[in-house]
Amino acid sequence: MKQGRLIIAANWKMNRAPEGALAEGSPYLPNKDIDVVVFATLLDLRRCIVAGIITGAQYGFPKEKGAYTGETSMQMICEEGAQYVLCGHSERRDPPHNETDEFIAEQVASALKAGIYPILCIGETEKEHDADLTFDVIDRQLKRVTLTPKVTIAYEPRWAIGSGKTPTPSEAQKIHAFIKKKGGSRTLYGGSMNGKNAKDFLKQPDIDGGLIGGASLKPKEFAMIVEAARAITGRITGYA
Ligand code: PEP
Repeated sequence: MKQGRLIIAANWKMNRAPEGALAEGSPYLPNKDIDVVVFATLLDLRRCIVAGIITGAQYGFPKEKGAYTGETSMQMICEEGAQYVLCGHSERRDPPHNETDEFIAEQVASALKAGIYPILCIGETEKEHDADLTFDVIDRQLKRVTLTPKVTIAYEPRWAIGSGKTPTPSEAQKIHAFIKKKGGSRTLYGGSMNGKNAKDFLKQPDIDGGLIGGASLKPKEFAMIVEAARAITGRITGYA
């Protein structure tokens, strides 16, 4: 039995809420055993919140307000009722966004100031993985961020996102153990997690949940991941 509340987070990316997601009995709704969080588009946040779902934004701008056309601040996301925000998702570190470690560190600080929980996404590219640079990349990505107990870290190897490829659960465990020593609170695994492989990742001692993209758009598949997490839940200490 794990010590703590696991977190299962759905990243719907640039997709509207899946059919039935907002209805009674949906797997995206809170349950007593684990934390379920949905990262919806800004346009779906309010609908999700009204339906009772715990939500997060997929991105937030680190300035509070002003002449930043097209942006939405962490403060505004908080006022809308979202409780979490993703910072540094690999799809935003890549072109056309090219977010840097410095910018992402600013986002984390801004989210904390606004009163929402940042989920900081880190992870190496395939090239870096093959060159055995994973730990160096993670070190670099974490260096500029102040890792308070309110920061959750999602380890998402960039080569595993949306590819159907994953590290083995024990490889992922080693990397999570390394990340845990750096600070923050819970550490999540992300990258092609699905209803079949979720349990093997979630039962690793330093993996406290999952960030799920593709499979989170299929309510039945997402429900399987939620159930896998519920089956191994307990209490994790040390997070705010
Ligand atoms: C993600 O986008 O954070 C992600 C993990 O995607 P997928 O589950 O599709 O690999």
